[in-house]
Amino acid sequence: MSEPCILIVEDNEANLHLMKEVLKPLGFTILVANDGEEGVRMARENLPDLIVMDIQLPKMDGLTATRLIKSTAETCRIPIVAVTAHALLRDRENARKAGCNDYVTKPLNTRLFREKIRSFFQAVGSTPES
Ligand code: MN
Repeated sequence: MSEPCILIVEDNEANLHLMKEVLKPLGFTILVANDGEEGVRMARENLPDLIVMDIQLPKMDGLTATRLIKSTAETCRIPIVAVTAHALLRDRENARKAGCNDYVTKPLNTRLFREKIRSFFQAVGSTPES
């Protein structure tokens, strides 16, 4: 059984580094895209088990990328966790409407981030494909 794969779509180097540090010890294979267009392309090519999606991204924002991923048959079932810049209700609402399954807020709380990501894999068991 291969390791579960997480695609991180994030343009901020510091945040990206932090997310990798949290997720790698958990045994995930990590893929990275640095803008929204690359994120959509990599989601289609690699079919990750989960996507962490920053909202403010170059080329294509994270909400648009999420809508595209969620409107394509091959990728619509991949859970997407939005990374919102503020803990504002409006941002969370926009993320939810675009199709995001959950959200975390910046600045990243590493403990909450770890638990949130793990909860998706505990919910579906250790075989996300089944
Ligand atoms: Mn950003």
